[in-house]
Amino acid sequence: MRPIIGLTHSLQGNEDSVYTPTSYPNAIIEAGGTPIFLPVTSDPELLSQYLDMVDGILFTGGDDIDPQFFGENQIWGCGEVIPKRDECEIRLCRMALERKTPVLGICRGIQLLNVALGGTLYQDLASQKKDSIRHQQQQRSRYGSHPVALSNGSRLAGIYGRNSVMVNSHHHQAVKDAAEALAVTALSPDGVIEGIEMPGHPFFVGVQWHPERQVQNPEDTEHIKLFRAFVDACRPA
Ligand code: MN
Repeated sequence: MRPIIGLTHSLQGNEDSVYTPTSYPNAIIEAGGTPIFLPVTSDPELLSQYLDMVDGILFTGGDDIDPQFFGENQIWGCGEVIPKRDECEIRLCRMALERKTPVLGICRGIQLLNVALGGTLYQDLASQKKDSIRHQQQQRSRYGSHPVALSNGSRLAGIYGRNSVMVNSHHHQAVKDAAEALAVTALSPDGVIEGIEMPGHPFFVGVQWHPERQVQNPEDTEHIKLFRAFVDACRPA
């Protein structure tokens, strides 16, 4: 049986259209899972039913997270936010944690996991962390543009089988203060947090890069490992 992975998605237009790049479901399929989309809702009963239906959840990328959810006002560098998506995903993340459902967060997804557990974000790296390297690369997203150092003994280091990996970079926000329950396990050369995980959890991992786009590079053999590890962790016992 292929594990069923629920994917969050973004909204477009007047918040009346569903939007998500196909690279997310494609990576889940390639890794042996069955992807389904979970429409935005804040109804706890619906969210609970979503969790009954899936073996794992992938929190996908997209717009900025509204700083109100980590107790700040928006600064000038903050981009477009969709509070009702944030609210849905924060609730879903907390409910998933109660059930120990495996969770993977990508790009905005790592930020979402962190905020749901009480952490904070840089609203805009360029204005709030001036010594940071370029995190909005110009080359195509199937190519990495900066390395991340993976912590010894971390799940991410185990998955990639090494302590450094080249990753793409398409973000202007990032985890600032990691939530207490989370271990920081990937750092870019300027010290920006690019990977978090919850020790002892079956699979609670967030990455700031877009592995689903790097797997589209036929020469890349590294990043599918993350999806395989996630899908394997979602297999019902
Ligand atoms: Mn980066």
